[in-house]
Amino acid sequence: MRVAVFSCKPYDIRTLTNQAKGLEVELSFFESKLCEETTSLVQGYDAVSCFVNDVINSKVLYQLSEQGIKAVVLRCAGYNNVDLDCAKNLGIEVYHVPDYSPTSVAEHALALIMTLNRKTHRAYHRVKEGNFALEGLLGFNLQGKTVGCIGTGRIGQAFCRIMNGFGCQVLCYDIEPNQELMDLGCEYTDLDTLFANSQIISLHCPLNASTHHLINQQTLEKMRDGVMLINTSRGALVHAQDAIQGLYSGKIGYLGLDVYEYEGSLFFEDMSSDIIQDSVFQLLLTFPNVVVTGHQGYFTEEALAHIAQTTLENITSLEEHKDRTGYRLA
Ligand code: NAD
Repeated sequence: MRVAVFSCKPYDIRTLTNQAKGLEVELSFFESKLCEETTSLVQGYDAVSCFVNDVINSKVLYQLSEQGIKAVVLRCAGYNNVDLDCAKNLGIEVYHVPDYSPTSVAEHALALIMTLNRKTHRAYHRVKEGNFALEGLLGFNLQGKTVGCIGTGRIGQAFCRIMNGFGCQVLCYDIEPNQELMDLGCEYTDLDTLFANSQIISLHCPLNASTHHLINQQTLEKMRDGVMLINTSRGALVHAQDAIQGLYSGKIGYLGLDVYEYEGSLFFEDMSSDIIQDSVFQLLLTFPNVVVTGHQGYFTEEALAHIAQTTLENITSLEEHKDRTGYRLA
């Protein structure tokens, strides 16, 4: 099995190479993303392995199919970047890694909450400059606060458990409520009730037609003044320009983003010497009550090892013509 692995960073190469030892799998690593411009690289391979910002639309899939690619093996949970219907029609199998480490993303959501609340991002710089004044760093206790969780799948559940442990009242919204969370004392409500009552709202639902721009001017109006919004799921859940208006008006008191709608041309790269050509993103970075991280929610040792292991199991599934992991999407 020859696999072209796209969007590779040194840490991907290290973990995949380690885990592939002894397996009959030949991996070729490409730093570039898979997109219309790079499909010519797949000549001679059986499968491609992709990540969150690779573009696997119908055009790309047709080009892959013409070159004999039998499968797309994602190294991530979300699959909003793949045209699954088209893959099915072309007979291209698609696999993902759904539960590599829900805890890693849930804990990162907590990191954003704690940073924004206790303003450690600002305190760090102040103290380095010998400024020990506390004015502007006032936080609040999490205990007793109402936290809304939208999407209570694997990551959402881990997040609710963490917030429950902090003594928060947890309100949940999902199209499929989870009994274990209810047993824990979390309460499922409709979306409007969650918006109206939560001091902190964290997004853990997938990006699809029903969740695209879920956070927009209208939904923001339903929220409490000064709400803390956290998005570690997918960027396009939030209409960024509406969020900026919310920041100006004070409707949003804190904004924590690990994902951004147009992150594809920014994240995972060192752009510190470049002029970033996205004025909305640049504006977001200017607010003292906004913390942006570059899609690192998943980035823990445990998650990387699990991603590599499951990706290789998914590749082995192809050889054996059976879905060993149960993670086949198409
Ligand atoms: P999951 O499939 O286990 O859970 C998603 C939940 O969302 C399900 O319970 C589903 O019923 C619910 N849902 C679907 N449509 C909904 C809607 N319209 N409204 C409310 N809930 C809805 O997925 P997961 O593993 O928990 O991952 C959630 C998302 O997190 C992924 O889709 C991915 O985009 C994102 N993610 C981000 C990172 C990161 O590094 N930041 C890493 C992994 C995953």
